[in-house]
Amino acid sequence: MTRALRMTPPSHPPGAARVCPPGGGPRASRNRPGTLDVPGPAGLGSGGREGMRMRHGHCLCGAVGFEWDGPPNWVGHCHCESCRRATGSPLTSFVGVPDSTWRWTGTAPARFASSPGVERLFCPTCGAPIAYRAERFPGETHFHLALVDDPAGLTPTAHFHWKERVRWLAHAEDGLARE
Ligand SMILES: [Zn+2]
Ligand SMILES: [Zn+2]
Repeated sequence: MTRALRMTPPSHPPGAARVCPPGGGPRASRNRPGTLDVPGPAGLGSGGREGMRMRHGHCLCGAVGFEWDGPPNWVGHCHCESCRRATGSPLTSFVGVPDSTWRWTGTAPARFASSPGVERLFCPTCGAPIAYRAERFPGETHFHLALVDDPAGLTPTAHFHWKERVRWLAHAEDGLARE
């Protein structure tokens, strides 16, 4: 399991004051320095027992996998330019998972430092983006939600970097917070 990076302070996206997702996400874990203190089942649309199941995810070729047990800290969509370019997609959905609850299965991913203090993890074989980590978010890893095998109950609760969204993609009025 990787730990928090020890690099210079992050700037994600480059030059922007805010990070991805801002403020540690809407449901940062409790009792963790530098994060929000928000009670309740974290980022779970249906809450409760859905958050307690073992989750599994893997890349396109299956070489890199991950799993975690327990509720995530938050779930949300990111519209920032860095995520867009890293994934080639107009928006990127993440699930923030406490580092104490997850592990790699299969091959360890490759890493790209997309900005100081930030690393993006991807499969060295098929190139699929796997996760995002930053000094700004100690103790948690942001996995790409679309890689999770059974995402039942992992419902995004917010749009991050909404102002950076691509304008050619129509977004339904989903009632989620737009930050
Ligand atoms: Zn792969
Ligand atoms: Zn982003």
